[in-house]
Amino acid sequence: MELQELIKEAHKTAVDKGFWDMERRIMRRLKNKEVLVEEEIEFIQNAFIAQKIMCAVSELGEAIEALRKGNINGKDGLVEEIADNFIWLMDLAGGHNYNLAEKIKEKMEYNKTRTIRHGKNF
Ligand SMILES: [Mg+2]
Repeated sequence: MELQELIKEAHKTAVDKGFWDMERRIMRRLKNKEVLVEEEIEFIQNAFIAQKIMCAVSELGEAIEALRKGNINGKDGLVEEIADNFIWLMDLAGGHNYNLAEKIKEKMEYNKTRTIRHGKNF
């Protein structure tokens, strides 16, 4: 399955499971009521994006805990938590029509041109 298909599926599952209900309801009502200017609506939209990013970040915290417990491939293990992180990010990309697959390819090509450790210590 291509990454872009995974992104669509991750987002569809998240929508089906209600992860976008409140955000969509709030954003629809805000846009219809015309009480806020576009800049304010964008500010609120960004808070929802930040919420999803932090959910992705929380999965990395779970990944570290799994590693500390030596759970690599088991239930709630390192690999599963990394997968959860990807799923959150793919859902976010799918929900906002970000072309994540293309950006990953583009960034990977760019990284090939960069210096050792990108000029940093690690
Ligand atoms: Mg998890």
